[in-house]
Amino acid sequence: MANFAEASIALDFGTLFVVAICVTSLLGLFLLYAWTQERIVALAWWGVAYLFGGASGALWHMGDTISPLASNLSTSLLFVATGMIWSAARLFHGRPVLWIATLFGAVFWLTACFVPTFAFSAASRIVVSSIIVAGYTFMTATELRRERRKLLIRRWPAAFVPMLHGAIFLFPVALATLSSDSGGVYGVARGWIAVFSIEILLYVVGTAFIVLILSKDRTMHAYKVAAATDPLTGLFNRRGFFEAAGSMMARHSRSRTPISLLAIDLDRFKTINDRYGHAVGDNVLQLFAKVVRQTMRATDIVGRLGGEEFVALLPGTLAEATIAAERVRVAFAAAGFVRNGQHVATTVSIGIAGGSPSTAIDLIITRADTALYRAKSNGRDRVEIATEEVALHTGERSETIRRSGREKERSAATDGTPESCMA
Ligand code: GH3
Ligand code: MG
Ligand code: MG
Repeated sequence: MANFAEASIALDFGTLFVVAICVTSLLGLFLLYAWTQERIVALAWWGVAYLFGGASGALWHMGDTISPLASNLSTSLLFVATGMIWSAARLFHGRPVLWIATLFGAVFWLTACFVPTFAFSAASRIVVSSIIVAGYTFMTATELRRERRKLLIRRWPAAFVPMLHGAIFLFPVALATLSSDSGGVYGVARGWIAVFSIEILLYVVGTAFIVLILSKDRTMHAYKVAAATDPLTGLFNRRGFFEAAGSMMARHSRSRTPISLLAIDLDRFKTINDRYGHAVGDNVLQLFAKVVRQTMRATDIVGRLGGEEFVALLPGTLAEATIAAERVRVAFAAAGFVRNGQHVATTVSIGIAGGSPSTAIDLIITRADTALYRAKSNGRDRVEIATEEVALHTGERSETIRRSGREKERSAATDGTPESCMA
């Protein structure tokens, strides 16, 4: 019977290298397929880079049997691949491709190969190629760390995997600095190829996985934004507004800062549509959104609830909200929309209500709406404030009711009850 404790696994590194080439090429095809689905251009770059990486490995494996130039071409192709992976990471974050830097490694290598002292020094070749691969890989890690948004996966694995890869590639450089014997470097580096094969396999699989998750996260984010945005104005739609308002109110409820809500309605908008057409009406809505963006703070939440009705939620008192509302009203009236040489009057009526972040938002909207109707009936192009304060805190309100109830009971008790007499 075989003794399993003594059995050892013999790894055939030639086979492992072929497997690494096949897996890299296959992942390249997967990434290209993912690009056709997600339409994220960085995926195409990553896919092509992986295919170049696979081709580079195949060329290196076949070696000088096909051409004496094979190993130089293979190395150059590998540098193009690593440069492209770095560029893909840049593209992923909307940064431009730096062509000279992308191709620098390959061009530098091919040029250096014409220098005999370099071309025939195995140790120099190993050190330079390791530095180039590690350089591109560290630059890729830096790019992947740039992602500012919160991701499904944390940023650290996205940067850690290439960092580790770069560090492993720097091993021969460390060896060369420690050893004065170049033959020794060459020998150990050859042995290191076995480790490289396994490491490259893990790196390409790990990186492809990270890239696909990053892309998925980006697509999901884009869908989320689209689902919460009004396509005509770019402001929040109803759903986006209520979601953002919920988070803002939750955030402010801890500090108990008051919040204010503006109910906004464009004046005589139907007349604009009837007189100039629906497309002009749409332009006026876009103009209003522009005015809002220019006059309100970035932290204020503004949404289009439907038609020509908007709503804005801002932290602050009624007095502060009134200043903001007046600013919007004046800016919109002054925006001056001209159509066929004719001035199109653009005015807006605004109703404001205040409350505490713990108040139900529907209640504040209803109260702001009442103030808005007052603005309309008082002649439009004006700001009106809800007269009745919405209870500062629902808890406080019930506490007030309870307290006043107790006070009533107590005062009833003082009016000649036996206990009060005793006291
Ligand atoms: P008031 O001053 O009382 O608010 O009068 P108004 O004409 O603004 O109000 P009304 O509610 O009568 O008209 C709103 C119009 O908005 C009616 C509708 O055709 C138009 N509308 C709704 N959605 C859109 C849109 O997306 N684009 C355009 N161009 N018009 C829209
Ligand atoms: Mg209107
Ligand atoms: Mg309306």
